[in-house]
Amino acid sequence: MSTKYIFVTGGVTSSLGKGIICASLGRLLVARGLRVTVQKLDPYINVDPGTMNPYEHGEVFVTEDGAETDLDLGHYERFLDIKTSQENNVTTGRIYNDVISKERQGAYLGKTVQVIPHITDEIKSHIVALGESDGYDVVIVEIGGTVGDIESLPYIEAVRQFRYDVGRENTLSIHLTLVPYLSAARELKTKPTQHSVKTLSESGLQPDIIVARSEHELDESIRKKISQFCNVEVADVIASLDAESIYQVPLLMQGEGLDERVIKKLKLDAGVPDLERWIGFVEAVRNPSTEINIALVGKYVEHHDAYKSIVEAFIHAGAVNGCAVNIRWIQSDHLTKDNVKDKLRDISGILVAPGFGGRGIDGKLSAITYARTNNIPFFGICLGMQCAVIEYARNVCGWPEANSTEFDEHTEHPIIDLMPDQKNIEDKGGTMRLGLYDCKLKKGTKAYAAYGEELIHERHRHRYEVNNNLRYKLVEEKMILSGFNPERDLVEIIELKDHPWFLGVQFHPELCSTVNNPQPLFVDFVKASLEHAREHDLNIPVDGERIVVSET
Ligand code: GLN
Repeated sequence: MSTKYIFVTGGVTSSLGKGIICASLGRLLVARGLRVTVQKLDPYINVDPGTMNPYEHGEVFVTEDGAETDLDLGHYERFLDIKTSQENNVTTGRIYNDVISKERQGAYLGKTVQVIPHITDEIKSHIVALGESDGYDVVIVEIGGTVGDIESLPYIEAVRQFRYDVGRENTLSIHLTLVPYLSAARELKTKPTQHSVKTLSESGLQPDIIVARSEHELDESIRKKISQFCNVEVADVIASLDAESIYQVPLLMQGEGLDERVIKKLKLDAGVPDLERWIGFVEAVRNPSTEINIALVGKYVEHHDAYKSIVEAFIHAGAVNGCAVNIRWIQSDHLTKDNVKDKLRDISGILVAPGFGGRGIDGKLSAITYARTNNIPFFGICLGMQCAVIEYARNVCGWPEANSTEFDEHTEHPIIDLMPDQKNIEDKGGTMRLGLYDCKLKKGTKAYAAYGEELIHERHRHRYEVNNNLRYKLVEEKMILSGFNPERDLVEIIELKDHPWFLGVQFHPELCSTVNNPQPLFVDFVKASLEHAREHDLNIPVDGERIVVSET
């Protein structure tokens, strides 16, 4: 079977959940035994989102091969249980960068370099390269942005050409659109969908399936109307209603027959779907036996997408432990020594988040002191781990000025410092320690107990490290360095012995947590937090109504 390509465009507005629809369709096809991957084409000029502010773009998702990519790739990995790579995310910036480099090398000698065919050819070559990279049955290609945007045009044109290149029967076009409900008229409106399909058609791309996002059930007459005006069969109008959890969306899409229609149209050789584990997971998420409150202390907490993978890893780990994790978002700027006790009341665990720059560091340090001295489970990720080391150096090792050179270049005790090979780098894009690295665990530690094996591999995204010249002091004062990168002898994990669960990691464990493979440290942290809640009478039994913790 040759590779089939499904192109997913979006119309009317952003935020319709295109990434989740692609991931859900992917899950349904994987459940039928097909080899599937998903690619995101982003229309912005940045070469990758690595240099964007989390407020601007949300989390930067790092792949195993060290690419800084769109957070939708996180959904693809979590839903399909696959690993993505640089090839799964292409931006306009990267396409132009590559074309311009080729032009300078003389690849187009004698020619005028143009959007059509040079840019469109480059886009198509990235789509094919992914399809051919691993013998996939299906590549789902999500086209970022909204149809009609100037930025999306080269992508739509590339898809139009692509359908001719590989044969229409090997491709499918799915258009995600909005069917709004006007309460004054008490009616669902199809006009925005008609317009959006018209705009798409003007670019030469006709949808085969329409996924209509709506807050209300689409009745037969609405489906017929969309079918007639948009030139698709009634069965190809798929309703996408709001779901309680994103993990329900594959099941809702299956109910609407999305996978059936795709299989039929592409003549895919697919088995019967095996969704037993998925359904079990969704049931566990929907019916927790208890709830706990975990504080997420960070700098970008107003924008929850900045911590997307952490939130999802908590959902996976909660399901394993039979509990729902309520995240209390704590702006690190607002935390002080004096208010920490009040802001962190009723909290069963504290996570200090990754981040960059000095803003809010004092608040993070206050939260860590509070967790350490009150035996509250603590999990520090990347910057969160670096802060735990600074806190320990200051308050236990007796170096009150200890700091990271990221915040104080001239500190007497730079307990966190730049790696020597980072010191001369001036470019900001793609220059961190990125991607998968080995980590060797010390037996008898909490980290080893969680993973149950000695050599693990986790993804990284940082410049600074625990300073190898000063780390002796941490060890002298009984901090346990429980994981090291064997090639470069870098500290990867720290923990405390006389504490129920106090652990910091230099890597990003949240990035590899999936529904079928919840990340072990998250599972153990939630377990420890659950025990803390039980001991201190903090867990809240679920008795019908979900308790919503106020956001700080
Ligand atoms: N700013 C820190 C560094 O670059 C931590 C980065 C992070 O938390 N991802 O090392």
